[in-house]
Amino acid sequence: MRQIDLRSDTLTKPTTEMLESILCAPVGDDGRASGRKGEDPTVAETEIMAAKLFGKEDALFVPSGTLGNTLCGCTHCPREAGVVIAENMHAYRAEESLFSPEYFGRKAVLVPQSEGMYHMDPLHAALKSGRVRLVWLENSYNFEGGRALPREDIKRVADLCHQYDVPIHLDGARIFNAAAALHISVKELTQDVDSIMFCVSKGLSAPIGSFVVGSYAFIDRARVIRKKLGGQLRQAGVLAATARYALEHMVQRLPEDHAHARQLADGLMNCPGIHVDMDAVQTNIVNIVIQTGENSRSWLKRLEQEQNLRVHYIDPKTVRLVTYRGITSEDIEEAIQRLQIFTRGTY
Ligand SMILES: *Cc1c(COP(=O)(O)O)cnc(C)c1O
Repeated sequence: MRQIDLRSDTLTKPTTEMLESILCAPVGDDGRASGRKGEDPTVAETEIMAAKLFGKEDALFVPSGTLGNTLCGCTHCPREAGVVIAENMHAYRAEESLFSPEYFGRKAVLVPQSEGMYHMDPLHAALKSGRVRLVWLENSYNFEGGRALPREDIKRVADLCHQYDVPIHLDGARIFNAAAALHISVKELTQDVDSIMFCVSKGLSAPIGSFVVGSYAFIDRARVIRKKLGGQLRQAGVLAATARYALEHMVQRLPEDHAHARQLADGLMNCPGIHVDMDAVQTNIVNIVIQTGENSRSWLKRLEQEQNLRVHYIDPKTVRLVTYRGITSEDIEEAIQRLQIFTRGTY
């Protein structure tokens, strides 16, 4: 039985055309300054392209989303400063370094959220306390089943924060998925936030890389911190070429992944012993809650052994399935069949 691997959209491989784009990309030393930009022309061009896509002044290429998020947190506010974040946002739950005293020591101010949106009263109270220097958002919201936060909700948070002169950072690792699900441009979707991190290494199929987007002043400061954190690269044009290719050619195909996630979720509706929150299936992520009492680690291990289907651990009750380029409609049908056999056997 062939393997079907739905653990993550980071499993996408670059296409031949994407790799070919490297061959004709001019490169230089991106760690040497030429005005506001480094000397690698492909990096510089792609950063400007990214900034334009988001309607912001400037952008900065970074090796990973984690580095991009950390860099933004460090650029916005100093150590000990309060950062409003929700308990299950990626930067708090999976990255941690921004909030760890041994590393970057920003203070997490946890505010509850429902379906990806902060509860406004506790958010307001946190802002009033005067301790908060940054408010964090995530879109699409990984640990909320890939939900897309609508622009109106972002604006509601932003309007309140800006009354208190507090900036907003958006972890937009999958912002292009959110925008596709909401049928608006990333520019429109992010117009109320002050900085954005997005990944090209996930559903957009590039092998490596993320960008940080914001004002000239913000990106200038972030560039200095990037160097200090070891995120400054040399001929990064070889990576930026694939990022540019991804932004030009891979964004428009994301709805295909979303349709596959829907197809998958629909197919799991009458599998016994599991539950899928259909309302949360808005992008390329399907979370399955295991209701039999079995721990999800053992559940997913058996699923792999018995059905050669790989999924990702989220918490003791939940696993995640992600669709991406390379996973076809037939793969999804096959995955559904295997899950039906598997859950019937275990219920
Ligand atoms: C993947 C991801 C990141 C981090 O990106 P890496 O490139 O893996 O470091 C940040 N936020 C969210 C929501 C993610 O899904």
